[in-house]
Parts: sequence; C-alpha cells; structure tokens
Amino acid sequence: MAAAENQCIVLLGPPGSGKGTQAALLAADLSVPAISTGDMLRQAVENGSELGGTVKGVMAAGELVGDELMAEVVRERLAMDDTQHGFLLDGYPRTASQALTLDEILERRSVGLDHVLFIDAPEPVLVARALDRRRADDVREVIEERLRVYRAKTQPLVNGYRQRGLLREIEGNHSVQRVASSILEAIQG
Ligand code: AMP
Repeated sequence: MAAAENQCIVLLGPPGSGKGTQAALLAADLSVPAISTGDMLRQAVENGSELGGTVKGVMAAGELVGDELMAEVVRERLAMDDTQHGFLLDGYPRTASQALTLDEILERRSVGLDHVLFIDAPEPVLVARALDRRRADDVREVIEERLRVYRAKTQPLVNGYRQRGLLREIEGNHSVQRVASSILEAIQG
C-alpha cells in the first residue's frame, strides 16, 4: 500500500477498543513490527521466565506492571534491529512516566513520534468485546478493573498528545475493516 514508511506510531485506547487487531493489520501494511507489551508479558508468563514470575500476579489482577520494569522491557525491545525503520507500539505508554520514557528513547535515536492513534468505543462495547475474548485474565471483575486503571492512568495521556498535534482520533465502534480504513486515512492525511 501507499502509506509512507519509517513511521513511529503509538496505539492508545481502552482494553477492548480493538487496538491489538488494528496494530497487526497496520504493521503488515507498513512493514514495521507491531510491538504489544501485553503480548510480550503474557509470553514471559507462559515461558516461566523471571520477568513472567514478577508480573504474573499484577496482570491477573488487571493492574499495571511498574514503570521501571516496563522501561527495561521496552528499551530492550526497541533496541532490536527490526525497529530501525519504524514500529507500532500497542499498549505502551500507559502512564505519564512511560510517555516520558518513550520520548527519551526516541530522542536518543533522533526520531520522534509520527502519530498517536487513539481508538475509543463506548464502555458497554468494550466490556462485551473483552468478555468475548474469554482469556484467563478477562473475567468481568478484572475487565472492570482494567478499565478503571485505564481511565485513571492512561486516558490522561490523550490531552498531552493532542496538544503536541500527534493525536488521531479513531472511532472504534465499527467493523474491523472500517476502523482499519479510518486509520489509514488518519495517517496519510
Ligand atoms: P494488554 O494486552 O495490553 O491489555 O496488557 C495486558 C496486561 O499486561 C495489562 O493489564 C498490564 O497488567 C500489563 N501491561 C501491558 N502493557 C503494560 C504497560 N505499558 N505498563 C504496565 N503494564 C502493562
């Protein structure tokens, strides 16, 4: 497809907004890796690594893994060669401190963020979608806690990115295909 390459893109949105699905589609279109910190942590838990052991309980409760540990995880991942021509970050940053860490990492590479795609949908849709996924950590209380944590810690990042002119607001309550088209329009426009 015709979208420009070398893009550093963040996907921001509540759990259940569809950002994981969209990250995978867009990454294929742009030929850059989709980096999901949630997937990386789930993999670590599955592998029984030291990191996995540390984060397992926090994830199961729907809380956030600490900023310092996440900084290590993301620094290490973004140091890999496949990110040289850009990347999509799905699920990072999630706190003000993480947003600063990301800015620092990118500054050191002399690149900046190109777009922050903010995908949102009404709360009942988010809960229904999350329940539909039926992952071990997706029982209703955990879903609600994840949403509460999102509203408290992550949603406040939206304004900062808006002020920097990076925010692209995407209506997530549509078909996968329609949301994907809105995203392509937003990053090409
Ligand atoms: P996700 O699949 O992105 O919803 O992430 C699943 C879980 O992994 C979250 O509920 C958190 O416990 C943890 N997690 C993923 N990314 C982060 C992050 N950037 N900061 C803190 N915790 C995270």
